[in-house]
Amino acid sequence: MTYTNLSALRVLICDQVDSLLIDGLERKGFTTIYEPEISHVELEHRVKDIGILVVRSRTKITEDILRAGKNLKIIARAGIGTDNIDMAFAKKAGVPVITAAGSSTASVAELNVALAIDLSRRIPLMDRNAKALMWKKQNGIELNGKVAGIFGFGRIGQATAKILRALGMSILAYDIYHDAHSIEEVNGKYVEIPQLMAESDYIFILATLTDGSVNFIDEHLLSMCKKGCFIINTSRAEIIDGEAMVMSMDSGRIAGYGMDVMWNDPPKELWEIELIKRDNVIVTPHIGAQTIEAQKRVAEFTLANLMKKIEEIKL
Ligand code: NAD
Repeated sequence: MTYTNLSALRVLICDQVDSLLIDGLERKGFTTIYEPEISHVELEHRVKDIGILVVRSRTKITEDILRAGKNLKIIARAGIGTDNIDMAFAKKAGVPVITAAGSSTASVAELNVALAIDLSRRIPLMDRNAKALMWKKQNGIELNGKVAGIFGFGRIGQATAKILRALGMSILAYDIYHDAHSIEEVNGKYVEIPQLMAESDYIFILATLTDGSVNFIDEHLLSMCKKGCFIINTSRAEIIDGEAMVMSMDSGRIAGYGMDVMWNDPPKELWEIELIKRDNVIVTPHIGAQTIEAQKRVAEFTLANLMKKIEEIKL
């Protein structure tokens, strides 16, 4: 069946998206339904009449949702990671998944650097103290002259490295894929993971979450870190073993943890809630892509990739 009239393709938007994306879909003629808080059970019930699902990271597209989505033609991830989608079953079910890869690279890179500086200068704590009129100075440390270890040297890893390089840091990277040109651009070096852990003053977690990267940064690797090293994670919390992270912070090996991603989003386990309350932990509620510019690009990229896919599969 060819959808000459796109209004026959009902689009269910399951997570909070910028109005630019909804406007763009409507301008193309799609019938949109905006349910940013829809529950898993309700989605399973309603998905049977839906042609296109638009999700961010909150909604989990599991096998039961895909089985219930008898009329599903495409899943659009208005963002980057697809770890909230059962990609293997989507493939089996013949439902292609499109993303907005690259849309938030600059925004997430800037957040990485902001978290590194905030940890180094204890800016949130200094701000809280100053506002309470506790006018006490504390020494911080400079990024200049330190070693940044980047775990996952893809789009965001490379963009982050460029800013860190300009701040006077040297760059080590670990990735399952080696991009020679990009590492040369920052005068950096690919190393194996033990060397990256042992030599870095700041470790940035920027790999994709896959079966191969879940809990990759475990107790053993954390024990190799330089004493006093900082870790910044804007990719996915699950790449680090949470229990091991707490132990490494208790021992003082890890001096600070900056994170935009949680094991539960929002945090619900007691240990996660305790962790984020520490003064040497800085947490943001998954705002990596939350800039006006990135949201505009997410809308543009999602729409463009969706139209390309519709044409490709001749809907
Ligand atoms: P990318 O695909 O360009 O880069 C990811 C890199 O990780 C790739 O180079 C890949 O080879 C590498 N990698 C994958 N598995 C690995 C492993 N086991 N060990 C080492 N390297 C591995 O993706 P990107 O655009 O740079 O985004 C990176 C991640 O950032 C995304 O997967 C997403 O989860 C996260 N992200 C977070 C936000 C946010 O709001 N905090 C926004 C955008 C992206």
